[in-house]
Amino acid sequence: MRHVVAGGDAVVLLPTGAGKSLCYQVPALCRPGVAIIVSPLIALMRDQVEALRQQGVEAAALNSALTADEQRDVRDKLYSGELKLLYVAPERLMTPGFQQMLRDVRISLFAIDEAHCVSQWGHDFRPEYRQLSQIAEAFPGVPRMALTATADPQTRADIIERLQLKEGRVFVASFDRPNISYTIVRRDNGKEQLRQFLARHEGKSGIVYCLSRKKVEETAEWLNDHGIRALAYHAGMDARVRSRNQDTFLTEENLALVATVAFGMGIDKPDVRYVAHLDMPGSVEAYYQETGRAGRDGDPSEAWMAYGLGDVAQRSRMIGEGDAPEEIKRIERSKLNALHAICETTACRRQAVLAHFGEAHPGNCGNCDNCLTPAETWDATEAARQALSAIYRTGQTFGAGHVIDVLRGKTTDKVISFSHNNLAVFDVGTDIDQKTWQSVFRQLTAMGFIRVDSEFGALKLTDEARPVLRGEQAVLLRKEAPKQTKKDARRDKAAALGEEAHGVFNALRAERARIAKAQGVPPYVVFHDSTLRAMAEAPPATLDEMGGLPGIGKAKLERYGANFLAVLQSASGQ
Ligand code: ZN
Repeated sequence: MRHVVAGGDAVVLLPTGAGKSLCYQVPALCRPGVAIIVSPLIALMRDQVEALRQQGVEAAALNSALTADEQRDVRDKLYSGELKLLYVAPERLMTPGFQQMLRDVRISLFAIDEAHCVSQWGHDFRPEYRQLSQIAEAFPGVPRMALTATADPQTRADIIERLQLKEGRVFVASFDRPNISYTIVRRDNGKEQLRQFLARHEGKSGIVYCLSRKKVEETAEWLNDHGIRALAYHAGMDARVRSRNQDTFLTEENLALVATVAFGMGIDKPDVRYVAHLDMPGSVEAYYQETGRAGRDGDPSEAWMAYGLGDVAQRSRMIGEGDAPEEIKRIERSKLNALHAICETTACRRQAVLAHFGEAHPGNCGNCDNCLTPAETWDATEAARQALSAIYRTGQTFGAGHVIDVLRGKTTDKVISFSHNNLAVFDVGTDIDQKTWQSVFRQLTAMGFIRVDSEFGALKLTDEARPVLRGEQAVLLRKEAPKQTKKDARRDKAAALGEEAHGVFNALRAERARIAKAQGVPPYVVFHDSTLRAMAEAPPATLDEMGGLPGIGKAKLERYGANFLAVLQSASGQ
């Protein structure tokens, strides 16, 4: 902030929830003139502007969602010098009309949010971001900032290059999100596994990601049938229903929003308590960004994923069928493999995710499934050799299902028609059950001994498989034990309040809901959960005392302090 206030350019890489927006909001208030904030989505602008206004800051957004009158009002405030922050989409910023307007006012800085959109290596590439490089020439001497919460080293370099920020200082914080716990399970009955996971989060809101629109709708319906309140969200829905579902998610509690990845970018809801994946995302970046939507307020939150080897085959096929150039497809495949390896690792997941972003972590985080319930391993050297050998002998043209049938000596039609019952590997693996064989194939793929062909999902051997085939390399694999639930109780305890404080907390929440509804804003815009919890734990007796609690600034104290104090007083009088 000091660097930008003094007029410098900056590249800011901060994880979600670390205060990325503050990095431009504070310099915007310190410097004379208006700050222009480039933001890709109207929803994102709306949330930020609303939050700033609640704090008593003159902020506005100029976009197509405004009426002509509203647009004129924003323009008047811009010319009169009242505005401190103006949010616009990149398309609007680059129009000659808008640039002319900006020449007549004093600009304090340009902040380009979600700057990874400029890079085609990133997963949210938006071509209109490319033109933002012109700002440097059009407005020389005005500080520029690029900010993002996701950037592997390649994307990082691209942002600096594309936005002409070579002279700027780069600020990188740790990408660790210690309040998010990570769990990745093998999917056997996805919906039922999801239901059990959601049962732990009763009364709270979160996001459930599915790969397809159809699965989104089926899952939402299934959850409602099983007593869990759920709404669907995907790009194929009627726009009005979709936006209504989004608003419900933002303003109400106790709701699972089942969505495709069309949902999420620009959603600023701080109290998302969980993000569940019923299908594996396509890259570690996507996994990190999507799970990162949980727990922006810093409270304990959970990232949970159920996945199967079929996901890897399906994603692989999607890449193969896409029309991207071969070079991009190769990058996409390696990103997919990196995530698959994280799914199958027996080591600390946090360490593995951070390592992908070039950040060292000592491991043993104590807040991922592998650290909380260390996996047992078994010597699978012989099983691995049999598995690889069966892939080789069946011609490297089949998926795991058929190869396992051969190993387990099943005389299916397919086995007979290819005469695979005559192979030396037929019937050699009867001592290992079906599920364990599936686990062997998943882990061998994640370890890089097998690759999944992108066309038909056929398993093929890699060069690394040779020493294992020859029995020269020992292979240790994870045992698939049913996971204990002790750790879950431990996780919930961290967020729990005493019984009395809990009652007060609920009373405060009700007051917050009332105020939020009257103003038509989400509850967290009034106060975060953590602020209400602080009030409930050590109730302030006066407004002055209340002002000392986290998350209560002068403007909010004036606006809401008396209401919440009254709730606390009536709660203590009972
Ligand atoms: Zn860990």
